[in-house]
Amino acid sequence: MEIDTRKNAEIRHATCCVIGCGPAGAMLGLMLAREGVDVLVLEKHSDFLRDFRGDTLHPSTLEIMDELGLAEGLLELRHTKARRITARLPGRTINVADLGCLKTRYPYITFMPQWDFLDFVTAEAGRYPNFRLEMNAEAKGLILEDGAVRGVRYLTPEGPREARALLTVSADGRSSPFREQAGLKMVRTSPPIDVLWFRLSRREGDPEDTFGYAGNGRFVAVINRGEYWQIAYVIRKGEYQSVRAGGLEAFRRSVGEAIPEFAGRTGEVGDWEDVKLLTVQADRLRRWHRPGLLCIGDAAHAMSPVGGVGINLAIADAVAAANALAEPLKAGRVRGRDLMAVQLRRWLPTRVIQALQSFAQRRVISSSLSPDGAPSLPRLAGVLLRLRPVRDLPARIIAFGIWPEHVRYTEPAVRAGRTQGARKESVR
Ligand SMILES: Cc1cc2nc3c(=O)[nH]c(=O)nc-3n(C[C@H](O)[C@H](O)[C@H](O)COP(=O)(O)OP(=O)(O)OC[C@H]3O[C@@H](n4cnc5c(N)ncnc54)[C@H](O)[C@@H]3O)c2cc1C
Repeated sequence: MEIDTRKNAEIRHATCCVIGCGPAGAMLGLMLAREGVDVLVLEKHSDFLRDFRGDTLHPSTLEIMDELGLAEGLLELRHTKARRITARLPGRTINVADLGCLKTRYPYITFMPQWDFLDFVTAEAGRYPNFRLEMNAEAKGLILEDGAVRGVRYLTPEGPREARALLTVSADGRSSPFREQAGLKMVRTSPPIDVLWFRLSRREGDPEDTFGYAGNGRFVAVINRGEYWQIAYVIRKGEYQSVRAGGLEAFRRSVGEAIPEFAGRTGEVGDWEDVKLLTVQADRLRRWHRPGLLCIGDAAHAMSPVGGVGINLAIADAVAAANALAEPLKAGRVRGRDLMAVQLRRWLPTRVIQALQSFAQRRVISSSLSPDGAPSLPRLAGVLLRLRPVRDLPARIIAFGIWPEHVRYTEPAVRAGRTQGARKESVR
């Protein structure tokens, strides 16, 4: 570390500097460190505690963790599982996705608090001497020199700092200001919905499954989180203020009408503070990179919550980035085509999932929100969904997306670079 007296900012050097330690940044940090790259991850918060974030780990992510030798340890943390997702419509119940039919060691969605996942991943990454994580470190501006990004200026409680790096990765989520600063253009879409998240207690005799209610003006997802139910109550875009103006009692009544078996416990929503608004956003960058900079995860493409895929796509981006960039980073030269390779690998899976989410939002969710409405599928889709290979498609897409990412083989010599005390079972 050296002091830059000119700017009075301490300077850190790293081969790769990752802005943001969400699922994308944490996984990229872990994977690059594992490959022997000197990586510095900056996180603006002092911890990972944030309620109602992407808590849904799909089989694609569990398989990645398995390839890293970490799935077993991860699944020792508290979690719940859902093998099947059903939808209760007026007068009938349908199977939306049965992950149990998939050929994978992990045929279920794992619900785990995101902060537990991030604590786990960063603890694993911390076993590598070339991984550094700075908490309370808020990136403020890219360092641009000769048309290339050379690092980032950031603020810590101890004062301003600079991280100088061969590559800077923006993994700072869907509000990242660095895309604009880097001149990267965004394609925005306008999802017709927002989501209100809250909890209700789970009681003896409650069902075990995770399900949704759709129809008669409401769309509600009900997720079994062990000791409580996590409820996603979908509203039309921009309707939040009028829902609030209608009063808490009317909201509770509406929830009770949507989920009659929980009507007796809606009083647990004691205050609007218990209800968190997720403003649904869906967008994507046209170009994910410029010299010295790559965007991944929500910073490259904010996803709608439909299907709970956001965290899994963010992790898949991190794997693709580590696979494509570890060698160039170690060689000290990252070319435009190396960065382009990451976008080419991840663009289509992202684009297709966004298109499917948009379809689901308009044809299934929005149509359920109109009074006396019910989800509407084109007739052809209804017929095709009765055929076995097509019937398994929703489960396949939720589980693996369009194509899964796999961890590239690592030389044992690199893995031997782990510090002493590394858990043996984590090294494959
Ligand atoms: C309320 C809510 C519910 C959701 N539910 C689901 C779900 O059920 N399933 C699902 O798959 N997805 C869900 N998502 C989306 C999911 O959380 C994201 O897709 C996923 O977390 C994206 O990961 P990421 O690492 O790209 O970005 P993020 O998770 O947004 O992480 C970005 C990180 O960067 C940090 N950061 C931001 N700015 C800076 C800065 N200037 N300097 C340093 N650090 C910075 C942030 O503190 C954060 O830790 C939900 C999102 C929200 C908001």
